[in-house]
Formats: sequence, C-alpha cells, structure tokens
Amino acid sequence: MKINIPNLNGPIQPGKIICIGRNYAEHAKEMQSEVPKEPMIFLKPATSLVGNEGEMIIPHQSNEVHHEVELVVAIGVGGKNISEDHALKHVAGYAVGLDMTARDIQARAKKSGSPWSVAKGFDTFAPIGDFVAAENVENVQKRQITLKINGEIRQQGQTEDMIFPVSTLVAYASTIFSLEPGDLIYTGTPEGVGPVQRGDVLEAAIEGLPILRVTVV
Ligand code: MN
Repeated sequence: MKINIPNLNGPIQPGKIICIGRNYAEHAKEMQSEVPKEPMIFLKPATSLVGNEGEMIIPHQSNEVHHEVELVVAIGVGGKNISEDHALKHVAGYAVGLDMTARDIQARAKKSGSPWSVAKGFDTFAPIGDFVAAENVENVQKRQITLKINGEIRQQGQTEDMIFPVSTLVAYASTIFSLEPGDLIYTGTPEGVGPVQRGDVLEAAIEGLPILRVTVV
C-alpha cells in the first residue's frame, strides 16, 4: 500500500516497517518480559499496511489477535549512523498505528526461540492513520495515546513513558539499517493489550493526530 507522507512527494510504499518491542515498562511487565537495555527491533512487511477506515483481517492461523496502539514515525531524510542530536531532523511526520499481533503464534515462537515474523506480519497487521508533518507536531513525547474497542477504552498511556524516545529509536535503528525516505517506525505500545473479535471497531488515537479507525473482519 502506498501512503502519503508529509514532506515527501506523492504516495510512497514504505521500504521497511521497523517495530520496537517492549518500549513501555508497564507493557513489558504485563508480558512478563524484561525491560530491554537497548531497543528491541523486529520488522513487518509493507503488505501488512492498511489505512484509515480499512479492514483488519483475522487470519485463519490464529485464534488470538491482539491490538497494540503505537506512535508511528515516518522517515523523510534517509541516513546511516544518525546521531541522536540530528535524529528528529530525519523525521517527516507522525501518525497513530496499530501493531496487530497473533499472540498465540508469538507465544509459540517465544517458547521455541523462533522469529516473530509470522506473529507480526500478516496482511493488514499494521493499520496506519494519516500523517501530520513533523514541524506541526510539538512535544511528541508528551501525548496521550488511547485505543478504544466499540467505544470502550482498552489502552491508555502517555508517550513520555517510552523507555527509548523517538530520537533514540531513529539513531539506534540507523546503526543497523540504512534509513530511507518513507520507512516507518512503530515505537511500541503501552499496557492494556488484549484480543479483538470479528466485527469490532478499533479506534486508535494520539492527541493532536487524526484518529485511526479500522473494522476487524
Ligand atoms: Mn508493538
């Protein structure tokens, strides 16, 4: 799926979707996981993207798909080994997204030491809202982040509770992957993750950014 990213010309298909695991201490705790000493990274394919008002498909391989509401960063200016001081200059915009997770498949993968690619990578497992240009988003680390299902609040957190802020994540990721314009970074979820059912309407929100609404099918 091609998406519109502020400061970039025309719709663009992200080359990579970088995701950060366990970036809020209370979520690490609810997953009975250690708080990481450096950012924990995994990837999703571009085919996992679905936009606002789209449908999130529960795959037949899973009986337990969870919501994880996250702040998403779009890269505008690429780079390698970006310093933390310059990191935010590489950000084109911000949106709210969902890191959908087949928790049953992930639990089996964790147990056997296998990768998370399947648990995290199904089609439509990366819903993404509309982006706001970075220059119009002040204090991105002081925003309330919320997930509602059928109008009922299920997750509520504050982006200031991230263990590693956006600047650190951009800099760190760029030591591993060359960052390119259009790359996305899903920055981790606060506590309160849980299952979704077919027919649910998910509403993901971050103060000051457009709401992301998807229907589970
Ligand atoms: Mn996540």
